[in-house]
Amino acid sequence: MDDRERRERHRRLWEADHRHLWHPFTQMRDWLREEPLIVDAAEGVHLVDTLGNRYLDGVSSLWCNVHGHRVPELDAAVRAQLERVAHSTLLGLASTASIECAEELVRHLPSGLTRVFFSDAGATAVEIAIKMAFQHHQLRGDERRTEFVALHGGYHGDTLGSVSVGGIDLFHRIFKPLLFDVHHAPQPYCYRCPLGKALPGCGMACADEVERILAAREGRVAALVVEPLVQGADGMITQPPGYLRRLRELCDRHGALLVCDEVATGWGRTGTTFAVEQEGVLPDILTMAKGLTGGYLPLAATVTTEQVFESFLGEHAEKRTFFHGHTYAGNPLACAAATASMTLFRERGVGAAVPAKAAALARALAPAARLPHVGEVRQRGLMVGIELVRDRATKEEYAYALQAGHRVILEARKLGAILRPLGNVVVLMPPLAMTEAELTRLAGITLAAIEAATARL
Ligand code: PMP
Repeated sequence: MDDRERRERHRRLWEADHRHLWHPFTQMRDWLREEPLIVDAAEGVHLVDTLGNRYLDGVSSLWCNVHGHRVPELDAAVRAQLERVAHSTLLGLASTASIECAEELVRHLPSGLTRVFFSDAGATAVEIAIKMAFQHHQLRGDERRTEFVALHGGYHGDTLGSVSVGGIDLFHRIFKPLLFDVHHAPQPYCYRCPLGKALPGCGMACADEVERILAAREGRVAALVVEPLVQGADGMITQPPGYLRRLRELCDRHGALLVCDEVATGWGRTGTTFAVEQEGVLPDILTMAKGLTGGYLPLAATVTTEQVFESFLGEHAEKRTFFHGHTYAGNPLACAAATASMTLFRERGVGAAVPAKAAALARALAPAARLPHVGEVRQRGLMVGIELVRDRATKEEYAYALQAGHRVILEARKLGAILRPLGNVVVLMPPLAMTEAELTRLAGITLAAIEAATARL
């Protein structure tokens, strides 16, 4: 394709996109005013657009890429599965690919989590966790345990159940009339503590608030639903050490299940295969998606302990059936990709390499401390949020309408990296396969983009 043909093709796709597509989490009026970046191909940790430009994939597409793109082992696994069967069901049938996938998955899970319920997205995995926790208590005769507790700033997906336990005002407020009631506790956002306190003197007063709710609703709470270590979508809000452990103790004390949503933090992202490992916490239910297939295909899992599973066994079969299932649950193509991805993860020591890479990224981001409009850099492993502020001293925020984060990502594109902001927080979620040199380049582009964009605000 010569340059002219490439431009014409780009133009045609651009027009068709603007005519037919409705993009998720996108202000469409703004979208229709801008020329879209149209991804056409990928090589390793780079994405290539329709004009032939190469970009470092700074956010792993949508936080899901692990080994890079076009990984020979993953491609081969999907092709081999295509030669056998592309689709079968888990409703009343088993399939080789899903069994092998579950078996490999359990090898990676914290010991004690042994039951795998497949679905197809992070939101469905959470939806399932909510219904499972609820039914678990019902089946044990604890019929008053119908309520849920979650955190402000939490994000668990976009279906109504996962939005109910979500706590991001901007996204969730409008749907409030459609949601079930959830008790939301203040989030551990130390940079802007909602309780106006500070560590270590506060003694984690935000966790005390969780306890206050559990005590006030004694015997009524089915589960506490949280993102462990980092609340991702609210702007990479990192939790202080010991916070998750406290939540585990509180759930034990008050008889609620602990649901840890590892859709974003799972699969090596924070420096351990699952974030809960860093706190020595065993949740009753753990949800995952994204990195499970290395980001290749839609697959999610809700995993539980035998104790939760056993509630669903025994007398009164109809009552003890979990009436939930999706057509594409445990899809064989997705399972084959997941098994290959998890095998690579284990054999290549992908998770074990994260701490050194994270340290390199932190070093490369250190100059951010000197930028006048960077309030805080929050990092756990290869999960980073850089909070932009109008004024460092007062922590004054940029007004939403200024689109500070969006301006940064437009600058980053010019410099060769794809990023996606969360409001005024610039996010880095690179594929775990990025080398230290690539991470350093990504950090350099990010800081230069922040400088260029904020200088003009
Ligand atoms: N939970 C968490 C913690 C997430 O970060 C996300 C997605 N960003 C989800 C759930 C929803 O996953 P999905 O988009 O696959 O539905």
